Amino acid sequence: MYPKEFEYASPTSLGEAVALLKKMGPDAKVLAGGQSLVPLMKFRLASPKYLLDINGISNLEYIKENGKFISVGALTRHHSLERSELVKQKLGLFSETASWIGDPQVRNNGTIGGSLVHSDPAGDWGSAIIASRALLKIQSARRERIVDSDHFFKDTFTSAVAPNEILTEIRVPVPPDGGRSAGAYEKLERKAGDFATVGVGVQLTLSRNRKTFEQAGIGLTSLGPTNLRGKKAEKALVGKNVSLETIEEAGTAVSEEVKPTDDVLRGSAEYKRAMARVFLKRALTRAARKAGASGV
Ligand SMILES: Cc1cc2nc3c(=O)[nH]c(=O)nc-3n(C[C@H](O)[C@H](O)[C@H](O)COP(=O)(O)OP(=O)(O)OC[C@H]3O[C@@H](n4cnc5c(N)ncnc54)[C@H](O)[C@@H]3O)c2cc1C
Repeated sequence: MYPKEFEYASPTSLGEAVALLKKMGPDAKVLAGGQSLVPLMKFRLASPKYLLDINGISNLEYIKENGKFISVGALTRHHSLERSELVKQKLGLFSETASWIGDPQVRNNGTIGGSLVHSDPAGDWGSAIIASRALLKIQSARRERIVDSDHFFKDTFTSAVAPNEILTEIRVPVPPDGGRSAGAYEKLERKAGDFATVGVGVQLTLSRNRKTFEQAGIGLTSLGPTNLRGKKAEKALVGKNVSLETIEEAGTAVSEEVKPTDDVLRGSAEYKRAMARVFLKRALTRAARKAGASGV
């Protein structure tokens, strides 16, 4: 099916883009990689009157370290995050997450910003930003604001980004002391390239002697109306011994706090709850080992 007719604009600066969004009003849609929006338009589930293509804005696509943060431009492709040496070295959770998204075509075109604003609870990036406690920079014609990852997802397919705003940057805190911090993303999918039946992102920092969990971030995919934080599971870890027993307790906590639904394609809520437990334990064990823990 073809999309309905629309007017197209291709600004070359952020200032021009937000001014155009203000003028066009709520009938406008931002176009980034088009991997979610274009199919929606073809099925006529979205029929924007104006399409604002931000691909001509050159300074929205970057990965750089700025002091305490690694800053990622919203237009950065999944593939760039998967391949970046800086991301591999300091944000293993992000390179792993990127590698699980769709297929090479989707990863070459799709952007981290588009994925986050789309706010599909089955989107993998949502869990990475929650686990890493990232900040999101959002721009309108009037102001710039920063939203933290716990307040970014408002509902299924609804983010904190208003129709007159553009998500410009994802700021990820650099984990403390490289060697004792590590992240991992584990995903259960029906077949290669599928959306998650269950996905779990973790970001850990161990104490200097590697005996206790000092910090823990847990993001959950396809386990509720939005990506969720595994709050009870995080609590079950922080300050506790790095041991199989502690990881088991976090697994029990996560299976009690998730909010999955039955679905004919990917299984019952009960199955997803059980898989959340299994996949969290896998992600925690792997991240703890990467951070130098022994005995897990
Ligand atoms: C076959 C297939 C398989 C996929 N598999 C997965 C998967 O396994 N895991 C996964 O997480 N995702 C998957 N996806 C989705 C993919 O990650 C998309 O790239 C992503 O959801 C949207 O990013 P985009 O850049 O293509 O955004 P677009 O499609 O261009 O836009 C998506 C939405 O975000 C808005 N938007 C985009 N950028 C901005 C911005 N900077 N500021 C404000 N609004 C903005 C648009 O207006 C639109 O509403 C898959 C997609 C396909 C087609």
